[in-house]
Formats: sequence, C-alpha cells, structure tokens
Amino acid sequence: MTDTLFTKIINREIAADIVYEDDLCLAFKDINPHAPLHILVIPKKPIEKISDASKSERDLLGHLFLVAGDIAKEQGYGEAFRLVVNNGEDAGQTVFHLHIHILAGRDFNWPPG
Ligand code: AMP
Repeated sequence: MTDTLFTKIINREIAADIVYEDDLCLAFKDINPHAPLHILVIPKKPIEKISDASKSERDLLGHLFLVAGDIAKEQGYGEAFRLVVNNGEDAGQTVFHLHIHILAGRDFNWPPG
C-alpha cells in the first residue's frame, strides 16, 4: 500500500489538528467537519479498509473504538455521538486508510443517507 494522506499525517509530513495519540493510533480533527465535533481516529498500521482487516487485528480494532468513545467523552459529547466507518468507494470512502469518524453536537437522522 502506498502512503496515503493519513500516513503522511502520522509521519508529520502533513499538518493536522491532533487531539490524541498513542502507540497504536492517532486522532485528529476532520478538515471538512460535518458536525460541531468531527474527529477521525486512525490506526498507525496502514489498513486500507475494515474489510481488509484480519482477526490478528482484533485488539487494535477494539482499541480504536474505545479511544473513539473516550475522545467523544473528553470533548463533552459522551451522551450522544455517532461513529461511522465508510468501507469502499461506493460507501463514501475517499481516503484508503481505515478511519472511524466521530461526529457529535447536532441531531442525526436515521437511517443515514
Ligand atoms: P471518508 O470519506 O470516510 O474516506 O473520510 C475521509 C475524511 O478525511 C473526510 O471527512 C475528509 O474531510 C477528511 N480529510 C481529508 N483530508 C484531510 C486532512 N488533511 N486532514 C483532516 N481530515 C482530512
């Protein structure tokens, strides 16, 4: 897999508004927010999309979701937030480095568009 934009953010080759980092993942504000809170949580390991993940990544994937929940809480939106993972171009994925969108601070429709 060639370096995506997000690998460049991990490597500090592109600037981002980073809100959290540990040895497994990074979280930063989305450059084009769709809610008052819109943060992306990404693994440092360059997995293209969730359908490419394997059982060996079970702990990493669980970690990403726990971190996403913690960030929503820390940012003051612990009671109501939405986590979104777009998988594949037809589902709206534009950056092929797995990421969880954390969205909060407004009403959300269901089913999503
Ligand atoms: P997706 O469409 O699910 O692949 O989401 C990709 C997200 O990355 C979009 O919401 C973009 O706004 C966001 N994005 C693209 N470039 C950057 C960047 N340089 N810094 C932060 N977020 C970005």
